[in-house]
Amino acid sequence: MSGSAITPWVVGNWKMNPMQAGAKQLVQELKQLLLDQPIEESKCHMAVAPVALALQSVQAQLQDSSRSVCTVAQDLSRIAGTGAYTGEISAELLKDSGIDFALVGHSERREIFGDSPAVINEKVKNALNAGLTVIYCVGESLQQRESGQAEQTVLQQICDIAPAVQAGQWQSIIVAYEPVWAIGTGKTASPADAQAMHAKIREGLSQITPAGQNMAILYGGSVKPENAVELAACPDINGALVGGASLNAVSFHKIAQAFANTK
Ligand code: PEP
Repeated sequence: MSGSAITPWVVGNWKMNPMQAGAKQLVQELKQLLLDQPIEESKCHMAVAPVALALQSVQAQLQDSSRSVCTVAQDLSRIAGTGAYTGEISAELLKDSGIDFALVGHSERREIFGDSPAVINEKVKNALNAGLTVIYCVGESLQQRESGQAEQTVLQQICDIAPAVQAGQWQSIIVAYEPVWAIGTGKTASPADAQAMHAKIREGLSQITPAGQNMAILYGGSVKPENAVELAACPDINGALVGGASLNAVSFHKIAQAFANTK
């Protein structure tokens, strides 16, 4: 399978938004849009990542949607199982609550909450062992890009998780390339730059695992309806991880449409 034959994923990362009533309305609007203007499941997978408190209510609300929209945890504990770990939510607890996906390594977790490569590895290992699919985020800072270290940084982040992943588990990983300087800034990597990095990531993954050829590599960083078609046209961009624009049902739906129609 070449990069362009992979069914794309469009995933909305709601971050620490919105309030419960807002989440309900957002899901309602999205369901209505999907009913009025269907997006074939075979052309684009869709998912949303609400706050942990809303995971189950959003999932329940999506149950009677005209098509599948998965729910994704934004993070999980580095501790597996159950026990005396105040405030934590383990991979097993997520799975037990019917949640099958988790983001790991988002740059906000790395930068603001100090998730080190060691912590990220524990999270990846726990998630995979509990049967979750991991959306693993990588990306370089502006300083790393300006000093010519973007590729090296991102490939290192890919290699970092290799010890946590068993041979048969790579197919349960989706990679999201999110240049840190493009997240929430309105700046997007040019489609050519993004495609070049995605091709490098695929090459790096393929050196680690034969599954690398079939793994979805999403782009994230100020994806909007206005730039989604151009990004979707790149052969190794297999979808988008969308922050700000996913809080607007119309924008999120348009981005998914762009990927469904362009791929
Ligand atoms: C993100 O947080 O994953 C993200 C890509 O945010 P935004 O789309 O707002 O840049």
